[in-house]
Amino acid sequence: MSSPITSGESGNNPPVVISLGKKPSSSGAQPGVADAPKTAFIKTFGCQMNVHDSDRMRRMVRDAGYAEVQSYEEADLVVLNTCYVRENAVDRVKGHLGELNRLKREGRVKKVALTGCIGAASEANELQKTYSIDLILGTHNTYELAKFIGLPGTEETFTPELKGVEGSHSTFVTIMTGCNYQCSYCVVPSVRGRMVCRPLENVVDEVRRLVRSGTRYVTLLGQTVDAWRGADGRRFCDLLERISEEAPRVWFTTSHPSNMEDRTLRLIGERATLVKKLHLPVQSGSDRMLKAMHRGYKADRYQRKIEVFREMVPDGTLSTDLIVGHPGETEEDHEETLKLVEDCAFDSAYVFKYSPRRGTEAAELPETVPEGVAQRRFVEILRTVEKNAFRQNQSKVGGVEEIYIRHAHTGDGRAVGETWSGHAVHVPTTAAAGSYVTAKIESAGPHVLYAGEPSGPPR
Ligand code: SAH
Ligand code: SF4
Repeated sequence: MSSPITSGESGNNPPVVISLGKKPSSSGAQPGVADAPKTAFIKTFGCQMNVHDSDRMRRMVRDAGYAEVQSYEEADLVVLNTCYVRENAVDRVKGHLGELNRLKREGRVKKVALTGCIGAASEANELQKTYSIDLILGTHNTYELAKFIGLPGTEETFTPELKGVEGSHSTFVTIMTGCNYQCSYCVVPSVRGRMVCRPLENVVDEVRRLVRSGTRYVTLLGQTVDAWRGADGRRFCDLLERISEEAPRVWFTTSHPSNMEDRTLRLIGERATLVKKLHLPVQSGSDRMLKAMHRGYKADRYQRKIEVFREMVPDGTLSTDLIVGHPGETEEDHEETLKLVEDCAFDSAYVFKYSPRRGTEAAELPETVPEGVAQRRFVEILRTVEKNAFRQNQSKVGGVEEIYIRHAHTGDGRAVGETWSGHAVHVPTTAAAGSYVTAKIESAGPHVLYAGEPSGPPR
């Protein structure tokens, strides 16, 4: 996936609306499951983990004879697969629940399920007092949706297999769940639990199966993928090496700087099948703040990692996450973050204004940063990132790139692709998603490159 500079809504994890399928036909329903056509709409908020969980729920609703539709108005069942990481994510969900209340009163929507990270938090029960919610599921028991929609409820639908979706050109493969860190500001450990790593052979088997079924791009997924550990002392780099032999195009997200090994960076540079982009959240450039956040590294150690990355992967792209306005952040801390952003010359960054989360350590800290100050710092950091990103993107103009088509054109004849170094590119082609074209980069903005007509047919 591309990593645009964003204003702090969804992290390295743009919100994705999953809405496939057509209006139902009675012949589409499975015998015994449905006596009337049924429709479902699964709306996803938040990170790739949620996108992946939604993919699996989508498979369940299909198995139960539902057709997927594009809007709440058309849906009998609405699943809101939610994010809890920042308060504005919760506010957005409340807005959607309000609209669903109205549609339920009018008899247009029949059932509403709330899943994902809000479902795993105690706040879900409070929401249920205000909004009409028929089912609440956390991230650990999403498989129970199966029972709710009339499938034989089996835990295997979801765990421990964590299956990707076959037949898709680009697929996520979860290699670990949960997180063993305790960053001061973060709810992930409390809603996703402690780290559980999937055995290497199990991951390899799934990737083989997916590749056989047509997957051309595998993204290894986890909150801290590079913390993955296997039997016999195997580490993430060993897993990545195996997968880079099995799949034709591979990426991974998200990494934690404390776990990122130099040999992993070298592998990215050496292996032709690995996309040359690294997402390595730094959060702050101030050692004082990094300590308060319990990130477990100092700014100069992070910068040394980046130097290794730039050396081993000279044509690679680098993105990060940054939080502005964590309690106690001074002007000096902010200046240090600005300096780190300049020095690392990120190709893109997700910048977030700190959002206090109930139950986290930072939410109890007294030295809050005023909103106006946080807003100014936020804009200053965004501008600095954009300036560097624009300059770096400009340097790609004139080059010829092999481009993987991520999203086929949607009528305007322009598809969205990705270069091997991880740049997002708009390219005028009708090539299908999952194919490659070769084209010259003609211009560049801060977030995206623009290619000319491809030379030759898609591959
Ligand atoms: N596991 C990933 C991050 C998951 S959350 C990692 O450690 O990198 C995605 C991003 O959301 C984080 O990197 C952080 O920048 C941001 N974030 C998390 N909690 C936040 C909060 N309370 N306020 C603002 N941003 C937050
Ligand atoms: Fe949250 Fe920190 Fe774990 Fe990332 S590493 S999920 S920010 S606790």
